[in-house]
Amino acid sequence: MLQTKTLIFGGGLTGLSTAYHLDKRAAARPELGDWLLIERDDRLGGLTRTEIIRGYHFDHTGHWLHLRHAEMKAFVNEVMGDDMLMVARKSRIWSHGVLTHFPFQQNLHGLPLDVVHECLMGAIESAIREAKAPIDASNFKDFCLQRFGKGITDRFMVPYNTKLWGCEPEEITADWCTRFLPKPNLSQITAGALGIVDDAAGYNAQFTYPRQGGIEAFASRIAGHLPARKVKLSTTPVAIDFARKQCTLSNGEVVQYEHLVSSIPLPELLKLATDLPVDVRDAAAKLRCTSLRYLNYGIKRPHVLDDIQWLYVPENKYPFYRIGSFSNAVASLAPPDSSSLYVEVANNMNPSDAEVKIAVRQFLREHGWLGDDSEVEVEEVRHIKYGYVIFDGPYFAAKERLLPYLRGQNVQSLGRYGAWVYASMEDALMDGYQFAQGL
Ligand SMILES: Cc1cc2nc3c(=O)[nH]c(=O)nc-3n(C[C@H](O)[C@H](O)[C@H](O)COP(=O)(O)OP(=O)(O)OC[C@H]3O[C@@H](n4cnc5c(N)ncnc54)[C@H](O)[C@@H]3O)c2cc1C
Repeated sequence: MLQTKTLIFGGGLTGLSTAYHLDKRAAARPELGDWLLIERDDRLGGLTRTEIIRGYHFDHTGHWLHLRHAEMKAFVNEVMGDDMLMVARKSRIWSHGVLTHFPFQQNLHGLPLDVVHECLMGAIESAIREAKAPIDASNFKDFCLQRFGKGITDRFMVPYNTKLWGCEPEEITADWCTRFLPKPNLSQITAGALGIVDDAAGYNAQFTYPRQGGIEAFASRIAGHLPARKVKLSTTPVAIDFARKQCTLSNGEVVQYEHLVSSIPLPELLKLATDLPVDVRDAAAKLRCTSLRYLNYGIKRPHVLDDIQWLYVPENKYPFYRIGSFSNAVASLAPPDSSSLYVEVANNMNPSDAEVKIAVRQFLREHGWLGDDSEVEVEEVRHIKYGYVIFDGPYFAAKERLLPYLRGQNVQSLGRYGAWVYASMEDALMDGYQFAQGL
């Protein structure tokens, strides 16, 4: 039987950060360096991997690193030094036949005047109402109506989020959006309607990204610090006995651990437990998550999407909700005079892959971003099984049962899918760091 102090499931940023920071702390406390990382795939990085096809670099859709914590800025600097770029966001929204700045609610200028009028009146009514009583919303749509008013809700929030989340905005709570949804006040909404653009709006006004190699260059740099003997690739846990703290691996080995850090999807972790109480199993069955379909495009033409890095597409007539250009953010992500793009497809719309491809090419052509079909050098469809965790009614009660239960078994379920949250790469790094600091 193998023995380890900390057994880590998953070699995405959460697992990598956990291992890295445990090793760092081992300089003062050598026992902390006793960890073992188990990764299902044959390569580390999880969602932060980059596929290179004919010289085009494709992350698993846009992965731009937004840093707000001093510790994580220092960590990224420690592993990447000068090999990171700082990039200013250039994102736009395509709706009602025009391109507007992000976020929609703060950039109404340029939309048809009846739309601007409707959105502004709704925002004014909401602000008056909110001054009298705080928002008390039971679901995301209700939150948008109360916070932004009917115009912004109907014209952007509902159509866009219905496509993104793959369910009705009435089904989800507003809790996911605390950090991620810009909430301009009436003065800012009015300024935006007049055409005064605030480039710093939102949490992602700028981001950092590797100069070369795509986002995987960052994951690889962390992985480069980890001794290969402590990492098992192409291996999965197949059964865990929480009481005995023993885990059986797909290669037949059994590991005795003291702490278990898991970044694999929470429902998958719980399925592995040999001795799960019935109510915990029931709570696990309530967790919902959407999967994601996206397409990669390599196009022999520079600056497809002009200089825009990503474009939100809320209207229902398009099957996709976002198109992004890797190479408009960082030129090294495509061969010279070419563009690498990703297209994220709405979950709740069911066009075939062929129909999506036709719609994408047509959209690009209409904007003058694609000429002859021969310009398309790469066009492929990919899937992400766990995409967006759904914050529906049963979500909170289920998690209140599951995570404390796991902590009671000395299991920390961390990261976007381990903790079952809407979270960023920085959050994943932070989870690993905090676990190591707390040991
Ligand atoms: C479409 C999309 C776009 C995103 N864009 C951004 C962005 O622009 N900026 C940003 O900051 N964040 C973004 N994120 C969020 C970011 O990707 C995640 O927060 C972060 O990468 C999560 O890291 P993780 O290690 O927790 O999970 P993962 O990267 O999912 O890693 C989990 C690892 O566990 C492995 N694994 C799974 N099951 C098993 C098993 N049974 N046994 C062993 N190993 C297993 C997987 O192979 C994987 O390597 C985006 C997420 C998505 C889905």
